[in-house]
Amino acid sequence: MDAAEFRRRGKEMVDYVADYLENIEKRPVYPDLEPGYLRSLIPNEAPLEPESYEDIIKDVERVIMPGVTHWHSPYFFAYFPAASSYPAMVADMLCGAIGCIGFSWAASPACTELETVMLDWLGKMLQLPECFIAGTHGRGGGVIQGTASEATLMSLLAARCKAVRRVQAINAKKSESEILSKLVAYTSDQAHSSVERAALIGAVMMRKVPTDNHYAVRKEMLKKMVEEDKAAGLIPFYFCATLGTTPSCAFDHLTELGPLCNEENMWMHIDAAYAGSAFVCPEFRPLLNGVEFADSFNFNPHKWLLVNFDCSAMWVKERADIIGHWQIPLGRRFRSLKMWFVFRMYGLKGLQAHIRKQVALAKEFESLVRADKRFEICAEVVLGLVCFRLKGSNELNQELLKRITKSREIHLVPCQLSGRFVLRFAICARSTESHHIQQAWQHITQLTFELLQEASH
Ligand code: PLP
Repeated sequence: MDAAEFRRRGKEMVDYVADYLENIEKRPVYPDLEPGYLRSLIPNEAPLEPESYEDIIKDVERVIMPGVTHWHSPYFFAYFPAASSYPAMVADMLCGAIGCIGFSWAASPACTELETVMLDWLGKMLQLPECFIAGTHGRGGGVIQGTASEATLMSLLAARCKAVRRVQAINAKKSESEILSKLVAYTSDQAHSSVERAALIGAVMMRKVPTDNHYAVRKEMLKKMVEEDKAAGLIPFYFCATLGTTPSCAFDHLTELGPLCNEENMWMHIDAAYAGSAFVCPEFRPLLNGVEFADSFNFNPHKWLLVNFDCSAMWVKERADIIGHWQIPLGRRFRSLKMWFVFRMYGLKGLQAHIRKQVALAKEFESLVRADKRFEICAEVVLGLVCFRLKGSNELNQELLKRITKSREIHLVPCQLSGRFVLRFAICARSTESHHIQQAWQHITQLTFELLQEASH
């Protein structure tokens, strides 16, 4: 492909992408395939001779599209959203073209500097305390990670280093391995699996703190565990709070937990992977109160802030704490370009409108569920996630979800809350409108009707 062909093919691809997204709701949201479907559709080896672009693009519809779960279909309500917007996609093209590996300032000054400034812009949109903003003289600042999982790992490694240094400052004879074997980290029993994995990689103990009946960690539970562990000679050093847990979008009580972590010299990291985007709206910002006690804070603009994957924003209060632990890979893509394009083309007001619209859609779905006495809401609906179930057994709800998945008209995934099988309905696609919600509910109630009819016979 030379430049002339690239011009032509690139324009065709833009049309293909726009057509795909404009017509996405006509495709079944979930594929109708068995695992291993793809291997038989393409050769076992790479071609020896070059093939034509036409042949490849034909295979996109033949091989790839049948196996795509359409995350940007307005009938996709599974997991949490994956952000998508045209400005981000266009910026990603430019990122690919510049193709720098920005591992140091000199490796591409614009890459390093735009990232720092974008994290400041975003931090200010969230009204983060001044200590997290780099500015020109700040000690804190932000960095783009690939995922929330990486941010959690980085924070845990930084906290581990800091704890070892602190113990050795008091007792220089203690070896690092001796200290490491005593370190203990904490997180909610509702935390994402990536938090536990961070402890596994960081080779430290991690204890799960039980949550209250709103699935949130309260101070008393953490305090009790910390005291028990200190009495047993262990060294509590890290707590990962969650704002917007994966199963039910619950919020740990930062204003209680933060002071405790500070008193105990424990690093507090906040994982707000999904919910963080909502804090650009003043009405949701109180959910972030207590961030001033945190050492690090992270959320994924690639989930809910219209910046395509991957873009996970992480801030620290003291950059010095994570120098050497900024990120796992050496190389960095020019990811801040997509933030820059999105923030400028939407403006703060456009971003707020997106969040508010999706929260309103979740509330609309919640009202439909509440109006039907056969169903129950299983957790408070704070943002764009509704957890609900049929009143009845786990088996009944499993069967309902099985039928929903098989129908391929809408896509949901379940979660477990207090041992109960619960259906999660997350507002995901940017193009989801009220009529999609109404249609989804109609579909769920139709399947429910059939299921209950069969069950009664
Ligand atoms: N933390 C929470 C609360 C999440 O909900 C998720 C994913 O949904 C993650 C972490 C993992 O995110 P990532 O894929 O960016 O690592």
